[in-house]
This record gives sequence, C-alpha cells and structure tokens, in this order.
Amino acid sequence: MTVDIEKVVSLSKRRGFIFQSSEIYGGLASSWDYGPLGVELKKNIKDAWWKEMVYAREEIFGLDASILMHPKVWEASGHTQNFSDPYLICTDCHKYYRQDSPEVKDNRCPLCGRNFSSQATRANLMLETYLGPLKETALKVYLRPETAQGIFVNFTNILFTKHPKLPFGIAQIGKAFRNEITTGNFTFRSREFEQMELEYFVLPEEDEQYYEYWISQRLNWYINLGIKKENLRLRKHSQDELAHYAKACTDIEYNFPFGWMELEGIANRKDFDLRQHSQFSGIDLTYFDDQKRIRFYPYIIEPSGGVDRSLLAFLIDAYREEKVRGEKRVVLGLDKRLAPIKVAVLPLLTNRPEIVEMAKKISGELKRSFVTTYDDTAGIGRLYRRQDEIGTVYCVTVDVQSLEDKKVTVRDRDTMLQERISVDKLKEYLAEKLGM
Ligand code: ATP
Repeated sequence: MTVDIEKVVSLSKRRGFIFQSSEIYGGLASSWDYGPLGVELKKNIKDAWWKEMVYAREEIFGLDASILMHPKVWEASGHTQNFSDPYLICTDCHKYYRQDSPEVKDNRCPLCGRNFSSQATRANLMLETYLGPLKETALKVYLRPETAQGIFVNFTNILFTKHPKLPFGIAQIGKAFRNEITTGNFTFRSREFEQMELEYFVLPEEDEQYYEYWISQRLNWYINLGIKKENLRLRKHSQDELAHYAKACTDIEYNFPFGWMELEGIANRKDFDLRQHSQFSGIDLTYFDDQKRIRFYPYIIEPSGGVDRSLLAFLIDAYREEKVRGEKRVVLGLDKRLAPIKVAVLPLLTNRPEIVEMAKKISGELKRSFVTTYDDTAGIGRLYRRQDEIGTVYCVTVDVQSLEDKKVTVRDRDTMLQERISVDKLKEYLAEKLGM
C-alpha cells in the first residue's frame, strides 16, 4: 500500500506526534515541534541507535559535544568554503529552489512553469550567530551543520582517556542546523534537525572492509526495527557526486511517498578530517601504533543518519489501514521498542467506581515499569481504535469479572487476540511480551 503522506501529517498533528513550530504566529517554515507521542518515539529511536552502536560494542565511545564551536573548525572542515547548494530563482514569482530538487524539471519553475532565466547561484547553508554583547566586536560563530566535527576535534581526548586500539569509534547524537533552500515534505528536510553519527577510525588498509561492514550493519538496523525490506535500497554515489573528502559513499534510501530519498549516508572519509584539523590547529592528531612503532592518520568510516528523517520513515512504514468486521481500523504497527506507549489500561464500564478504581490502580503500578496510559473517555471499541492509531502495543481491560477473579484482558495490537491474565502476573507477562 502506498501511504498518503497527508494522512500521516494529519495523524501526527491530531494525536500529538508532530506540530508546526510557532503555529499560533503562523508557523516558521521547516521547523517542527514534537508533541507527547513524538518525543517518546524520537527518544526510542535514539535509544535503539545508542544501544546498538555504543552499549553493544566494546570499542565505541559516546560523546556529547557542544553545538557552538571555534570558527576555525569550519575552515578546516571545508564548510566555510564548500558547504553550499546551487539554487535557482524564478524572476516571476520570486520563489527559489535547489537546482537538484525533484520538483525542478526542464529548468522550469515548478510554481508558474516559467523558464529559469539565470544560472544557478550558490548559497552557504551554515547559520551564523554572534558571541558577545556587541555585534560589531563579537565573534561570528556557526550553529553546527553536522555533529561529525565535534567528534574529530575530540579525537585526542578519547585517545588519552580511553586508550583504544584501532579500529574504534566515537558516536554522537545531537542537533544540527542548515539554512536549507528547498524545504518541505513535512519533516524530511528541516532547518533544525538531529543527527546520529558514528566516526569509526580504522587502519588505512582496512577502510574498504569496514566501509562494507557499516553499510550492511546500518541497513539491517532499519530492517530489524521494522522497516519493510522492499522500502529500502542502497545507492552508491557516482565519482562526480562524491564530496571533496570522500573516497566512497553509499546512501540508504527509503521509498517515501514523495520518492526514494536518503535516510542515511555511509562515507569513507579517508584521513581528510584528522589531517585538516592537525594542520589548522597545529596539534598532532595522529595515532601511534605501539607494536609497529609508527604514527599515522587513521581512515574514517562514517555512518551518518537523521533522527527526524528516520522517525518520518518509521511512521510512514508503520501506518496501515485495515477492514475489521466491516469497519476501518487505522494501525500504527511500530516495533514494540519504538512504540511511544507500551500499555493502555481501559475500564470496560465507567459507571462502576470499583472497576475505575481497579483500572487506575493497575495503570499506576504499570507506569513504574512501562510507558502506560489510562483512558476512560469513550466506549471500549473507540478506546481500542484510539490506541491502535498511535501504535500502543497492549491494551489491558478491566471488567466486572475482574472484580471477582482478579484477572484482566490483555489485547495484542497486531493480532487483536485477547488473553485473560492474573493481575499479580500482569507486570511479568507484559515485560516478557515487550522484551523489557
Ligand atoms: P541531503 O542530500 O538530503 O541534503 P545530505 O547528504 O546533505 O542530505 P548529510 O550531510 O549526509 O546529508 O547528513 C546525514 C544525514 O542527516 C542525512 O542522511 C539525513 O538523514 C540527515 N539530514 C541532513 N540534512 C537534513 C535536513 N535538512 N533535515 C533533516 N535531516 C537531515
């Protein structure tokens, strides 16, 4: 089924996943706020990445570098010079577009159809700000356009504190900012977003082996978390498309409703970054091999993904509509680890205070172990539909009989099968089912 992006946008807003930023003032283009469900989903994606990349491995270390960095960092990295996209301006409707945007066909303005009369111009994508009270004398700095540079400038700090041997990695999740030209397609291309980046330092002669390794690891991460295989593909960059520092790059692309687009890129950056920062800072960023007694710059393999982009892909991929006994059921079939709410506790009857009280008590106890919600504001059919639509994994229903036998009904979101479980076994039962 091809998902209508408008349905996902509408569900996101209606149920509290994603809101337009500053909406009461008319909104700010391509900035987004994550609501109560969105913030949980985002956190779960970041946790899944961190578990896989940092906790599951002995040789990868976490980092949280600051967003504002010394301006020389961006000179060394090449961003001040090269971080730009070519754009076209329509002289008629004064709109501008990224030249390589899929909307721009045959050099015509997608809005009015007029030919673009001038050549493409380049614009630097970094957002500037100033440190100091007087703008005239203040230091011009940038909001980082990627998290990677924070890792490179901490290379020796990790070497001296953790004493790792090659290969080893430094992982970071954090905000990045880009003054993007063409935005849109919901959260796909925003001006403020989060990245999940690993810089993996390897022996120069082992670069190709680890490049292939990380491509398959990262592709499997998405599949393992529930994205359908047929909606993912790998795209190798051609030689003329490669960034100035890269020896090779492969994108993991997702089949978005608006086309196949990049979710994550895996690049072989050679020894470019450590060399550049050594040269610009005057600090030696080589690695010393104490067996061979030689110093050299390791090569770097970089899997770089976007939190917001993968969140959008997870939402789209999980969205499904089904017919159940003649009625439409919307389900967000998110992986259990990603689902924002794990358990909903629902009383079958609200006119029986003992049932309400029992349901609230169960909910209060489960909250200590899983993200749990309580809802008694509609009939049971409607309550189930609400939970299915936001991907809640299990619904626990308390009914009249529960008062007698101290058992509740647990309903599975995907199979809709129901089981009677003793209240005193409920927590263990759910923990096992949820794998927590
Ligand atoms: P694109 O070609 O789509 O602009 P890119 O190749 O410039 O992306 P990278 O610099 O490789 O992107 O950044 C790594 C990841 O960060 C991307 O794969 C994407 O998931 C995420 N990302 C980059 N730019 C944005 C953005 N403007 N909004 C949301 N996510 C982004």
